[in-house]
Amino acid sequence: MDLDTHAEDLASDLGVDKEEVTTDLQNLVEYSVPIDEAVQSLRRKYGDGSTGGGGAPTTKSIGDITIDSSNVSVTGVILTAGKRSIRYQGSENVITEGEIADETGVVDYTAWEEFGLTPGDTLTIGNASIREWDDEPQLNLGESTSISKREESLEVPYEIGGEADLASLRTGDRARTLEVQVLECERRTINGRDGETEIKSGVLGDASGRLPFTNWDPVPEIEEGASIRIENASVREYRGVPEVNISEFSTVTPLETPIEVGEDAPEMEIGDAVSTGGVYDVSLTGNLIAVRDGSGLIQRCPECGRVIQKGNCRVHGSVDGVDDLRVKAILDDGTGTVTAILDDELTEAVYGGGLEEAREQAREAMDQEVVADTIREKIVGREYRVRGHLSVDEYGANLDAVTFEECTDDPVDRAHAFLTEVSP
Ligand SMILES: [Zn+2]
Repeated sequence: MDLDTHAEDLASDLGVDKEEVTTDLQNLVEYSVPIDEAVQSLRRKYGDGSTGGGGAPTTKSIGDITIDSSNVSVTGVILTAGKRSIRYQGSENVITEGEIADETGVVDYTAWEEFGLTPGDTLTIGNASIREWDDEPQLNLGESTSISKREESLEVPYEIGGEADLASLRTGDRARTLEVQVLECERRTINGRDGETEIKSGVLGDASGRLPFTNWDPVPEIEEGASIRIENASVREYRGVPEVNISEFSTVTPLETPIEVGEDAPEMEIGDAVSTGGVYDVSLTGNLIAVRDGSGLIQRCPECGRVIQKGNCRVHGSVDGVDDLRVKAILDDGTGTVTAILDDELTEAVYGGGLEEAREQAREAMDQEVVADTIREKIVGREYRVRGHLSVDEYGANLDAVTFEECTDDPVDRAHAFLTEVSP
């Protein structure tokens, strides 16, 4: 259904002006409220007692809830509860999101009212509506939902509290608890929706990996070198990789014992790495099957740094290009491919010379393509291990290389090591 059809339904169900409902819906959707949530929220605003599904709720096991279920009542344990503020018609609304479980399964929930949901509590939730999110059912707790705490706690085969390590985090995760070390941290001024605002951003690390973070409401506990516990962190995608979000609702406490940070990036198959949608720090090994156009000696726009063609920047028009070196190489391990991007330093190492040598070679040949050709001859057909930041977006899967090393180990040894790894 599109927005207009929703507005029409709402207007006729609730007996209100369609234009008014349309404006309200547009406002909500503009602030990234999913359309179903927006509709529910307007039903509440205009005083429809039902939360959408209609009918008397049925008591269900969590494992039995499907996207086709109507209103349900469930008894389960709150695993996580994270607050988030969404803006609705100029004012902030605080919602609580997390997971609830019983012996049969786990389901995500969103609570639109303050119910005081606390991880570890066993609750009977009466009359929650079901909505669909990413093909999965979710519980919607609103005005017509009743909550009662059970004296006896339910035993569930799931961990309470949302403890996670960095490598296991995925975009969309909410209410996670992390123990990490702040590896890099800087203060930045950004243009937020309320004008200029200060944030902190940088990189977190633990034994499992590294991830970038943003601290939207800067706290002094987050500083370079500090080991901290973060409760109620969420994960969103930023520039093709997952990023830890630390908000005003997160709790940050310093830790006495420093958190160890692993030196090595996790090794993954290329297909697996790409299907996660982006990994901040990963090591991929594959055959270098091609060096793409736009490699070798290139020119960048002095204004924006974009690579230019024949002295023309896509944004700034005719400019005096600045020479640079880079390689865009396709790496393939049989499960997938990525484009590894080598900066000037890594390119110098594989080319065996710097800008001066590259310019000299191009002058002699009267063609700057010879630089890319030289690089092709050196690396195509060999096997490399590349560590870096993997981003996956509409531009494809790009691995921003931090290290680029030829695999010199004997293939027989590696096959051996692999077999030892997979056998029980
Ligand atoms: Zn430009």
